[in-house]
This record gives sequence, C-alpha cells and structure tokens, in this order.
Amino acid sequence: RKCIGVMTSGGDAQGMNGAVRAVVRSSIARGCRVFGIHEGYEGLLHPELIKEMDWISVRGWLSVGGTSIGTARCKDFYERPGRLIAARNLVKAGIDALIVIGGDGSLTGADKFRSEWPGLLSELVEKGELTEAETAPVQHLNIVGMVGSIDNDMAMTDATIGCYSSLQRICEAVDNIDSTALSHQRAFVIEVMGRHCGWLALMAGVSTGADFVFIPEKPFKDNWQEKMKEIIMKHRSLGKRKTIVIVAEGAHDESLNKITPEHVKTLLSNDLKLDTRITTLGHVQRGGLPSAYDRMLATLQGVEAVQAVLDATPETPSPVISITENKICRQPLMDAVAATQSVAVAIKNKDFDKAMSLRDAEFAE
Ligand code: ATP
Repeated sequence: RKCIGVMTSGGDAQGMNGAVRAVVRSSIARGCRVFGIHEGYEGLLHPELIKEMDWISVRGWLSVGGTSIGTARCKDFYERPGRLIAARNLVKAGIDALIVIGGDGSLTGADKFRSEWPGLLSELVEKGELTEAETAPVQHLNIVGMVGSIDNDMAMTDATIGCYSSLQRICEAVDNIDSTALSHQRAFVIEVMGRHCGWLALMAGVSTGADFVFIPEKPFKDNWQEKMKEIIMKHRSLGKRKTIVIVAEGAHDESLNKITPEHVKTLLSNDLKLDTRITTLGHVQRGGLPSAYDRMLATLQGVEAVQAVLDATPETPSPVISITENKICRQPLMDAVAATQSVAVAIKNKDFDKAMSLRDAEFAE
C-alpha cells in the first residue's frame, strides 16, 4: 500500500489548500495512506510534524486561502545532514512518495533528495539508525512536483496555482483606486509582486487598462522616462482623467538599474505636474479566497499528481504537473526548473530577447 506525503513549501499561494485536499482525497480513493508534512521541509526534520490525514481532515479547504499545513523556508534541508534526518523520519513513517507543492527551489530540493535517497538509506543503516528491514519496503522515493506560486514564474506550465487569485486581488485593488483617481484626476503608481517575473504586472496592466507597465523581462531603453511621459500625456490629451502605472517589483531599465515607484512618481509629479500617489499592494496579493480557476487547477493537478505517483517507476524522472493549452500534463521536473532558472540568468546577462522567449506564449505576444 503506497504511502504518500504531501507538503507545501516556499511562499504561500491561494489554492495550495485545494491542492492538498485533492492529493489527500485522491490518495485515499486510490487505496493509499497519506500524510501531511507540516511547515514545509521543517516538517521532515520533526516527526511530530508528519501527521496522517483522512477524508474529513481537508473538509472545506477548497475555499480557504494560504496553506493550512503551513509552509516555511528550511535552512537545514539545503545540507545533506538535514536531508539524512528527513530520510530517517520518512522511512520511520513508511512514506515512499512525496508530493511537493512549491516553487522551483522546493522542487529542486525534492529532486536532490530523491537522487540521494539510496545513499542516505545506506548511511542510516550503517549508523544503526535504521534497520535493513525498515528500509527494504522503501528503496525508492517518488517525487512529484506541483507548482504553487502567485508569480506564475515557472517554465513549462501556463499557470501556477495561485497566480490567477493574485491577479484578481490586484485588479480589485486597482478598481478601488480608480474611483479616487478619477475623482481627483490623480496618477497612481502601483507596485506589484512577481520577483523576476513580470506576469502579474503585465496581466494586471492588460486587465485594468493601465497606462504603462514595467516588467523585468522587457525593460525599456534608457530613455524610458521620455517614452512614459509622452504616452501618459497622450492619454490625458484624449480626455483620460486618471493615470495608472504598474511597476513589477523586479522592474529595471536595460542597464539593470532598478525602476522604483518613487522614481516614477517623481517624474509624474515634477515633470507632468500630476497629483501622484504610490500604492504598494504587498501581501494583500497573497491573501483572500482562491479564485475559481485556482480551485479547479489545484484539484485537477492534485488528482494527476497522485496518478503520477502510482505510475512512477524507479527510472521515471520526477515529473512536475503542469497545465499546457488547457490540458493537465506532466513535464520533467528538472527541465522545468532549469528553464525557469535560465530566465533569471538571461535577465542578469541582459539578454532580454531570450528572457521573453523563455516565458509563456502570452508573454511573447
Ligand atoms: P518561492 O517561489 O515561493 O520562493 P521556492 O520553493 O522557490 O518558492 P525557496 O525558498 O527557494 O522557495 O525553497 C523553499 C525551501 O526548499 C528552502 O527553504 C529549502 O528548504 C528547500 N530548498 C530549496 N532549494 C534547495 C536545494 N537546492 N537543495 C535542497 N533544498 C532546497
């Protein structure tokens, strides 16, 4: 009987609870036992944080934001001694498959753990911490990844669990700001999350009809100040009473100088004489109810993740569950991680065409 551990790791995202719920119920329906690993990789280091889950333990979770089994960043798991403790605790619990819901860091850690697994078990037996009889049933560790991230920054999937809820939050905030902007003919500079990824900023710009958007993958040339002022004045001359500029938190110019909301505000206030305010949306973007899309994505992917565990052989590379052109599918986890990391490298090397081409189709357009 397969014994599956499910955990959430890295930054929280709306829909993670729906993913855990789907994994728990799908596992039980397929005859597996399932354990919630609480507080991300910290949970692997502390046996009391590994708790068996049943059907009703996830009742009502679809509509709850964040992650109820907790998430964390865990320093110890970066190092082999930490992963040795984790392996011992998993074997003691009889767990031989892990479904990890997190970002590229969490998935990298999981794959590394899998590749070291046989060596970790031998070392634990040698040290007398485990017996051959305990390790015999769990010779292989299956890893399946699911991507939970508000940033939509993972390659080889069209959407990550949480990104559409977060986009919704941003749109609601901009709609609220619109009322006051229109009343006073104000300009607002709105900073949104996303780290290296401009998806949230770009899609928020599209969805709210913003005047100007700054994203990391496609910086404006060094004269962006003039370009921005020209476009905003053109919109004002057409009778627009408000101005909305969206700045991704990772935005910069072509020389990688950071573009801050304060910088944009100074230009709008001093040069264009617009009454300008800054709104940093911050953690509001991670909060609140998961959108219908995220509930659906989390559920369909959770079911697929359990199926992937059941299909896995010792030779199968670890998969990550993705959605591509509206179909739930599996991709090689480490290929997706490598492609994701190469966007950050391309940006660092100022190869912005490459950065754009590595992003999803909607970006390239
Ligand atoms: P987010 O996109 O929200 O930041 P993430 O999964 O990329 O999510 P990280 O902070 O990179 O977030 O990773 C979460 C945890 O995963 C780390 O605290 C660590 O415990 C583990 N981890 C990350 N990278 C590795 C690695 N290379 N080796 C081992 N463990 C890792």
